[in-house]
Amino acid sequence: TWANVPQGPPDAILGITEAFKADPFAEKINLGVGAYRDDKGKPYVLPSVRAAEDKLVASRADKEYAAITGVSNFTAKAAELAYGADSAPLKEGRIAITQSVSGTGALRIGGAFLERFYPGAKKIFLPTPTWANHNAVFSDSGLEVGKYRYYNKDTIGLDFEGLVEDLKAAPKGSIILLHACAHNPTGVDPTPEQWRQISDVVKEKEHFAFFDMAYQGFASGDADKDAFAPRYFVEQGHNIALCQSFAKNMGLYGERAGAFSLVCASAEEKKRVDSQIKILIRPLYSNPPIHGARIASTILNDPELKKQWLGEVKGMADRIIEMRSLLKQNLEALGSKHDWSHITNQIGMFAYTGLTPEQMDVLAKEHSVYATKDGRISVAGITTGNVKRLAEAIFKVTG
Ligand code: PMP
Repeated sequence: TWANVPQGPPDAILGITEAFKADPFAEKINLGVGAYRDDKGKPYVLPSVRAAEDKLVASRADKEYAAITGVSNFTAKAAELAYGADSAPLKEGRIAITQSVSGTGALRIGGAFLERFYPGAKKIFLPTPTWANHNAVFSDSGLEVGKYRYYNKDTIGLDFEGLVEDLKAAPKGSIILLHACAHNPTGVDPTPEQWRQISDVVKEKEHFAFFDMAYQGFASGDADKDAFAPRYFVEQGHNIALCQSFAKNMGLYGERAGAFSLVCASAEEKKRVDSQIKILIRPLYSNPPIHGARIASTILNDPELKKQWLGEVKGMADRIIEMRSLLKQNLEALGSKHDWSHITNQIGMFAYTGLTPEQMDVLAKEHSVYATKDGRISVAGITTGNVKRLAEAIFKVTG
């Protein structure tokens, strides 16, 4: 029956993990995975998450189905976290929100909703580069996928002029995907002033802003600061789409807790949008898993636990920021002539080193340092114990 099924290419990141596992060298370093590690290189379950789980287990809650749009005291608090407690559309009851299978599921529901109902051309413009999965998620949702300039490899920074030019050149009413903070894979974010200008261009061109916020709190350590861009757009009257993930900021990776929301023009519009989101989700997976959403909800609904959690997110963000400086310091101490300031200017889990695919190959083969060919390294995989050896390897490879 399946004689016609061709062999597909392996997932780029999984390939790295396999090569890493097969390497017998004791001091090998894996900077491919997009998951936080503590300073011992171990996965980290947040104490606030453990506490919420203990509370949940003690409550002997039942296992009944959630609603189609998920656990409502989770989505209510997710919206508050993203938009801010005094967000106008939140108070006016015009934000349609549903729980989703983490950030990826949110993107996919958003893609499917736009494919079904977006009144303009169903084409979404993605930054170049972008998270590797965006392309597939949106094309599988039936949207056409375009791109806009984002990263300038000469400055290892933002190509702001290119970005603005491309948003201006896109047909009026295009859908524009924006990373809310901690752009993956580059770690390069627009400044608040640049966000204001992007908002102006999006408004002028009547584009639709579709935000992917997979790292709220994880970038700067401050959840409000990280939500600046979507909140500013909303203040400016953009009725945005927003995808949220609790994979990184709560370390709930495999629990798959996320949310998709649409800011609507009125409470009446929201009601209609809600009804269609339900109609869309019902035949996909009927209703979402409850455990991760209950953990997040327990944290977000308990002021003490929420405070603790925000401290723990900041702890993760701060460790990453510290590893960026340590890596830069070590490279400079070795006498590297290159300017490594992009390592500390960038934000979030990933650093875009500027290393070429060839240099990344040498890093893996000769130094047992594994990361993606595009030169992206997961700063979360750096520790006080391996940063010196990592800097030496990068120094040798870059001369
Ligand atoms: N968007 C971006 C930009 C991401 O980096 C990620 C995670 N790597 C996601 C969405 C979705 O992740 P998840 O489905 O695990 O929430």
